[in-house]
Amino acid sequence: MSRTRTGSNSRVGSTATDEEILAHARVHARSVADEIGVDLDGLEWDVSPRAKRRAGACRWNATDETATIVLSRRAYERYDRADFEAIVRHELIHAWEYQTFGESDHGSRFRERAEAFDVPIRCESFTEPRYRLRCRREACDWSLARHRASKPVKTPERYRCGECGADLTVEHADSGRTWTTSAGYGGARSALGDDW
Ligand SMILES: [Zn+2]
Ligand SMILES: [Zn+2]
Repeated sequence: MSRTRTGSNSRVGSTATDEEILAHARVHARSVADEIGVDLDGLEWDVSPRAKRRAGACRWNATDETATIVLSRRAYERYDRADFEAIVRHELIHAWEYQTFGESDHGSRFRERAEAFDVPIRCESFTEPRYRLRCRREACDWSLARHRASKPVKTPERYRCGECGADLTVEHADSGRTWTTSAGYGGARSALGDDW
């Protein structure tokens, strides 16, 4: 059984500079741009230090046909790597729509691409994370928010604290229910039913 430190996948974004945030976004964008069809040369990037509600936005200047993707610093600080990159893909799909059709929304064309690139439709809005991973060691206050039922949420016994390497507890934010194994995850899930 391989055990992975979740810390390798966590953000240390509170100390990241705008340049680091944009570098991360650009590297990810390059890896998916061809598939999405977006033209990165016609794209500009910015970081918003203040955005409270939106994790990202894509602005379109029809005059010079330039799309600008604005990413919020808060998203980078709060989201893990996978969720942050999903936001980048979400905005790249908007940029592709603007470049190709001169308009963009969350309609069926967008949703089709979003599904193909594993992008939540609403990923621009901040929502409280559904799950939180916590270290089981009392003295360690490491935790990590998860917006989706990712592998550490479903099989916490296969992962370890990103800080000290101890075992993990997963908490379901709405109900406060916790579990430490995949069996516990299944139990919590069926106990909560519609409240999941
Ligand atoms: Zn959007
Ligand atoms: Zn720990």
